[in-house]
Amino acid sequence: MTDTLNQRVLLASRPSGLPTPENFRIAHEPLPVPGEGQLLLQILYLSLDPYMRGRMDDAKSYAKPVDIGGVMEGGTVARVIASRHPDYAVGDLVLSHSGWQSHALSDGDNLRKLDPQAAPLSTALGVLGMPGFTAWAGLLQIGRPAPGQTVVVAAASGAVGSAVGQIARIKGARAVGIAGGADKCAYVREELGFDAVIDHRAPDFAARLAEACPDGVDVYFENVGGKVWDAVFPLLNDFARVPVCGLISQYNALPQAEPGPDRLALVMRDVLKKSLTVRGFIQREFLALRPAFLEEAGQWVREGRLRYREDIVEGLENAPAAFIDLLQGRNFGKLVVKLAD
Ligand code: NDP
Repeated sequence: MTDTLNQRVLLASRPSGLPTPENFRIAHEPLPVPGEGQLLLQILYLSLDPYMRGRMDDAKSYAKPVDIGGVMEGGTVARVIASRHPDYAVGDLVLSHSGWQSHALSDGDNLRKLDPQAAPLSTALGVLGMPGFTAWAGLLQIGRPAPGQTVVVAAASGAVGSAVGQIARIKGARAVGIAGGADKCAYVREELGFDAVIDHRAPDFAARLAEACPDGVDVYFENVGGKVWDAVFPLLNDFARVPVCGLISQYNALPQAEPGPDRLALVMRDVLKKSLTVRGFIQREFLALRPAFLEEAGQWVREGRLRYREDIVEGLENAPAAFIDLLQGRNFGKLVVKLAD
């Protein structure tokens, strides 16, 4: 790869179940040249996120799928390397949504300038970016934990879950995390300071979770679905809130999902008799609150009250394998690809 070529990761075919490397194709194309009012971005960091699995399917959803042969979608931190736009100069650093490629043209829309002195640049994709905002907005707008209440969150070492538990504690609630494996559990308990953490791979996972929640569960921040949902659901208290943020354990199965035993009646019975609030959301619904998030979370990060961990992979060519690992829980922290210094 030289500076005269744009390296891009394209969607080669749609996956069936877990994506494979063959679903992606790497292409090299001449660098685009900015026209009047445009700028050329060099991508420094690319965010890899679970939602990208949904974009690989040709299914109706809240966002359009990536076309076959199209560039994989994704949030990025970039440097302006050529500008014919009045508001941007060469050297400016920006948050953009440029996808899995080394360079991109922009007309300046939907860019946000970043100050590298305020926080490390990669945090604009994690704790101070979309995942952190998802945690903050979903927990505080929908979960609304009161002091002393119990908040449970899975994928607790990840970008969203780690922030959910720490914000719950900042607000005076008790945070119980669920994570996969001893290392992630130790990190969640010891470094993030959750009150308890349970390994979802333990054979007696459901019993341990019940033990860790002696007063039941007031807020279940749903990131995972499947057996984790099955274990948490019976523990929900009257008037519990369930922000439904993600279902990562199901993403590879959903397109082929077969009708199974219908448990909807049992779920609805408890929604009714316990007066539960089960509320799905996509973070952009709350975008008007982003400035308030940046101010509050930025302060918590500076004070060391909101901690984060990044899993940084070097090189765009390694993005497909890293993404496939993410869908199997092999990332440890916010997964980011570093393309350039
Ligand atoms: P993470 O960095 O937490 O990575 C995903 C984690 O999910 C893995 O590390 C793994 O953690 C866990 N996981 C993966 N497969 C399974 C499985 N089969 N069973 C249980 N756990 C599994 O990702 P994010 O923090 O970025 O995202 C967390 C969730 O939030 C996802 O569901 C995502 O789709 C959702 N989301 C929703 C948004 C919205 O607007 N609604 C916006 C952003 C994210 P472990 O090894 O600990 O199990």
